[in-house]
Amino acid sequence: MLQKIDHIGIAVDSLAEARFYYEEVLGLARGRVEEIAAWQVRVAFYDLGGVHIELLEPMTEDSPVAKFLKKNGPGVHHLAFRSDDVAGQLARAAAKGCRLITSEPVSGAGGKKIAFLHPGSTFGVLTEFCSSSDHGGKGAGPLPSLTEEQYEKKV
Ligand code: ZN
Repeated sequence: MLQKIDHIGIAVDSLAEARFYYEEVLGLARGRVEEIAAWQVRVAFYDLGGVHIELLEPMTEDSPVAKFLKKNGPGVHHLAFRSDDVAGQLARAAAKGCRLITSEPVSGAGGKKIAFLHPGSTFGVLTEFCSSSDHGGKGAGPLPSLTEEQYEKKV
């Protein structure tokens, strides 16, 4: 069953640029930063009381996030529900006629199992199911960030 909103995925052109807003303007502490080769994305997590913001930066032009950015520009990319049974949730959606992006659970950030439903079947919201996970910790090393002056010029 679905337990809670796990995270909200937000597509950005550059983590280095976006983190200034999340860390300096909003004052959030950054958790895990990770590269997910299968999706060609680099992600950074911010914890807000157990619900996370997941920033997604494409690593290549072939990344699904690069295609999303080209079509829509930066912004909300997906909504992720935590489930104690990702495979079962996916099977339930398939049985009801919902279009799937992943026919079975695959590995996502933090080693959790994830699966995606197609936005064409979910009233426009790319929907992720993910297993319980910990997005804390520092993950992959330090990230560059904008200076205040660079941010002010940018926005
Ligand atoms: Zn996600």
